[in-house]
Amino acid sequence: MTIPSNSSDRHQVVVIGSGFGGLFSTQKLKRADVDVTLIAKTTHHLFQPLLYQLATGILSEGEIAPATREVLHAQRNATVLLGDVTAIDLAGKTVTHRSVGGESVTRYDSLIVSAGAGQSYFGNDEFARHAPGMKSIDDALELRGRIFGSFELAELATNPDEIERLMTFVVVGAGPTGVEMAGQIAELAHRTLRRDFRRIDPKNARVILLDFAPAVLGSFGEKLGERAQNRLEKMGVEVRLGAKVVGVDATGIDVQHHDGSQERIESVCKVWAAGVSASPLGRMLAEQSGAGLDRAGRVEVNDDLTLPGHPEVFVVGDMMALKQLPGVAQVAIQGGRYAAEQIIRRLTGREPKGAFEYFDKGSMATISRFSAVASVGKAQFSGFLAWVMWLAVHLVYIIGFKHRITTLLHWAISFLGRGRAERVVTEQQVFARTAIEDLGDEFNPELPGIAADRQPELVTAHQRN
Ligand SMILES: Cc1cc2nc3c(=O)[nH]c(=O)nc-3n(C[C@H](O)[C@H](O)[C@H](O)COP(=O)(O)OP(=O)(O)OC[C@H]3O[C@@H](n4cnc5c(N)ncnc54)[C@H](O)[C@@H]3O)c2cc1C
Repeated sequence: MTIPSNSSDRHQVVVIGSGFGGLFSTQKLKRADVDVTLIAKTTHHLFQPLLYQLATGILSEGEIAPATREVLHAQRNATVLLGDVTAIDLAGKTVTHRSVGGESVTRYDSLIVSAGAGQSYFGNDEFARHAPGMKSIDDALELRGRIFGSFELAELATNPDEIERLMTFVVVGAGPTGVEMAGQIAELAHRTLRRDFRRIDPKNARVILLDFAPAVLGSFGEKLGERAQNRLEKMGVEVRLGAKVVGVDATGIDVQHHDGSQERIESVCKVWAAGVSASPLGRMLAEQSGAGLDRAGRVEVNDDLTLPGHPEVFVVGDMMALKQLPGVAQVAIQGGRYAAEQIIRRLTGREPKGAFEYFDKGSMATISRFSAVASVGKAQFSGFLAWVMWLAVHLVYIIGFKHRITTLLHWAISFLGRGRAERVVTEQQVFARTAIEDLGDEFNPELPGIAADRQPELVTAHQRN
C-alpha cells in the first residue's frame, strides 16, 4: 500500500527521527512557510540520557519518552508519521518508510536526517543476546527485568555458586552511561533493596565495571575520571580497566586483560554500555552521494551539515561526522536547529549562515545520589554541587511541565527516600529478545495487512530494535 505524500504546494521538509536532532529541527520550523513531515520508527521522543533511570526503576517510560505527536500537537505545519525508513532516493527526492500499515513514499524538497546511532558490539553482535545495550525503551525495560529478576532468582536459588552468579552484575563500558548504570545498580543493591529479601542479602551483590580503556570517563579528563572512579569504588563497585571482553554467554563473561591473561566472570546480568554505530541510513546516503563514512558509520558532512553534492539534504546528530564532534544531545539539538535555520534563510532569500559552530555547554555524569562530575568550559566540578547542576540541567530538558513534576516526585522518592517507584517487571520484557531470536524463521506474527514475504524483514526489524 502506498500512502500519498502531502499534496500541498508549499516547500516540503521531511525530517527523519524524533530524537534530539529531529524534534528540535521540526520545532525550529514552526513559523516557517513549509510543511514538515517528521517520520520516526517510534512514536515517542526519547530522552536517552535518563534511560539508565528507567532501567533501574527510578523513572517510568512516559516520563522520559513523551509522545512526539503530543509534543508537536500545536505546531500546525508539522505532521508526525510512524515509519521505519527503509530507503532514501537522493535523485528522486523521496523517502520510503514502512509500518505495519504498509509502505509509504514521501516526497521532499529539503531533508533532515537525524536517525541517531545504535549499539556497537565491535563486530561481536552475538554478545547482544546476553548483554543488552541501552539505546531504546525496550532495552531499558529488558534490563530492568534482568536486574530485578536476578535478585528474585537469587532469593529462590539454593546453590551458593548460583546465588553468586545471579548477584554479580557486570557493566561493560566506563563512559557516562556505564558509570551511571554501575552506580545505580550498586545503590539499588546496597540501599534500595537492603530490607526486601529474606534469604539473600542484596548488600552482598557485586557490581563490576569493565573497560578496555585505561581510565573511567576518559572524555572528562584525568582529574574527574579519577574522582568518579574513587566514588564508585567507595560504593563497592569493582572497576577493571584495560579489560577487553572476548566472550559473553548466558552465565558469564570472558575478559582478556592487558597482560594477556584471561578471566571468566560468572554473571547472569550483563549490561553493554560500550560503543555506538550510526544508523544504517548513513551508509545509504554515502553510497548515493559519495560522502565518506567514519569508523562508527557516521556520514562526513560539509561544514554546513549538508551532504556533499546535495545542499537540500542535512545530516545531523549522532549520524554526522564533523570536526570530531561528540555524539551528545547538544550537538544534535544545535545541528537540528542550524539545519532548520538554513532552510528558512534559503526560502526567505536571506544570506545562509556560515559554517556550523558547536557551542559546548559542558558535560556531566552522575555517579550516585548526591554525587556527579561536571565539566563546563575550563571549570570542573564534582560531588554534590555537580549533582545539583546535573539535576537542574536534566529537569530543563525534560519535555513537558507534567513530566517535570512527576520526575521531580520520583527523584525525591529515590534520592531523599530509599524507594524506587517503577519496579514493575513483566515476563515479556525479560524474555522478548531471546524469544524472538529463538523463533527465527518460524516467526509468524499473523498481523493483518502484513504480506507473508515481508515477515522475515519484520523479524530483522525486531532484532535491530
Ligand atoms: C544511554 C545513553 C545515555 C546518554 N547520555 C547522554 C548525556 O548524559 N548527555 C548527552 O549530551 N548525551 C547523552 N547521550 C547521547 C544523546 O542521547 C545522543 O547524542 C542524542 O540522542 C542524539 O540525537 P539524534 O537526534 O542524533 O539521535 P536519537 O536521539 O538517537 O534519535 C534518533 C531517532 O531516529 C529514529 N530512527 C532511527 N532509525 C530510523 C529509521 N530507519 N526510520 C525512522 N526513524 C528512525 C529513532 O526512532 C529516533 O527517534 C546518551 C545516549 C545514550 C544511549
